[in-house]
Amino acid sequence: MSSPSPQRPAEQALYEPGIQTLAAEPLRALQEERLARQLRRVFAEPVPLFRRHLEAAGIRDPRDVAGLADLARIPPLKKSDLRASEAAVPPFGDYRGSLPASWVRIGQTTGSSGRPTLIVWTRRDLEIDYRAAARARWRWGLRPGMVFAQAHPHGLYAGGWHMSHGVEFMGCLDIPSGPPATAEHRRKVVRLWQRLAPDMYRLFGNAGVKYYETAVEMNLDPARDLRFEQAGSHPASQFEAVSAGLEALGMLGSACAEKNGAHLCEDLAVVEVIDRRTGHAVGHGERGNLVVTILEKDNFHIRYDLEDLVRLNLDPCPCGETHRRMFYDGRVSDAVAVAPDGPDGRIVEMLPIDAALLLHEFPELAVPSIEYQLVRRPQPGRALELRVEGPDDAAGDLVAAIARRARERLGVAVEVELVARGALPRFDFKAARVVDEAG
Ligand SMILES: [Zn+2]
Repeated sequence: MSSPSPQRPAEQALYEPGIQTLAAEPLRALQEERLARQLRRVFAEPVPLFRRHLEAAGIRDPRDVAGLADLARIPPLKKSDLRASEAAVPPFGDYRGSLPASWVRIGQTTGSSGRPTLIVWTRRDLEIDYRAAARARWRWGLRPGMVFAQAHPHGLYAGGWHMSHGVEFMGCLDIPSGPPATAEHRRKVVRLWQRLAPDMYRLFGNAGVKYYETAVEMNLDPARDLRFEQAGSHPASQFEAVSAGLEALGMLGSACAEKNGAHLCEDLAVVEVIDRRTGHAVGHGERGNLVVTILEKDNFHIRYDLEDLVRLNLDPCPCGETHRRMFYDGRVSDAVAVAPDGPDGRIVEMLPIDAALLLHEFPELAVPSIEYQLVRRPQPGRALELRVEGPDDAAGDLVAAIARRARERLGVAVEVELVARGALPRFDFKAARVVDEAG
């Protein structure tokens, strides 16, 4: 294992500079060497699901995949394949790259798309995950000795444990407060933050909003008393990180100071973006499915389709890091199809982030937070339907202005239904922005 020690000078700009600035050619050579090792393990361990899958694609020997270019011969696997494997060979399925005695942690996926699948980690798997996460948080300024506040749920959701142990791995003091459950819990957490004055907060979505509001209710000035700025309120903050899921690589990348995409960990994963209809790779800036092949971990994946929609930024980054950058746009399951030219015309797909970036341009909607829904009908309509919380006195002018901007920004018509502040549901953790309604 290379550089397992988290100790390094705080003034160093990157967590693993040697790897993070590796030139394209040696990086590719490293990926191919590591890919070959994983493929050998598929046949030697063996990993039955992957082995059957490779053999069905005509790959009967690891040497049949000569390099990264040959990867495309292997059809992607999805969550449903893992779920089927777990049902056929309970409880863990037949896709694990290591033996149960070597596992030290279990987690399960959120199950938002069906029965949750089980995730297992060996010590080595955890260390790879922590290294990837450490690179990400180092870019954001986290350094050993700092105090770090977060509100991830723990328990069966492994993301909380990963975040806690990941920052501890870096040598930081972790304050795991959990989500803003009850009013009493929120006040307790705020008082603790007041005492400890964290150096960095990482609170997602409504957790940040709720804790911030609680501090204000307690007559505190969050910035002065808690060193707590309400971050993440701009929808583009979504682009600061990209994940390949806890089952693959929880922190696949994070944005550098350029804030023009998240640098991937390409020595730890082969990352592809494909058109899910054709299976072909898409180009610079084009939206497609995130497909990863995990290198280095004992429990790995080969061409695993996360069913997430992402875009690659293929431009070299002025910061000096060489690994490519990516934008996370949303889930395939949240895509809302719009047929601007009628039922026979071209279909465009809209995601919550598209609506959020549009609505954020209107201060009367953006403060205190943008609350909105995309309404999805059984058949794509000619316009994107948005339900948006707005001021009570908003006139038709606002709706018309949003529609105008939508044409320019998204290239589609929108129909906006303004609703009263507080009318739409709030979420403590991940927001559900797409609602299916009969049409
Ligand atoms: Zn950069």
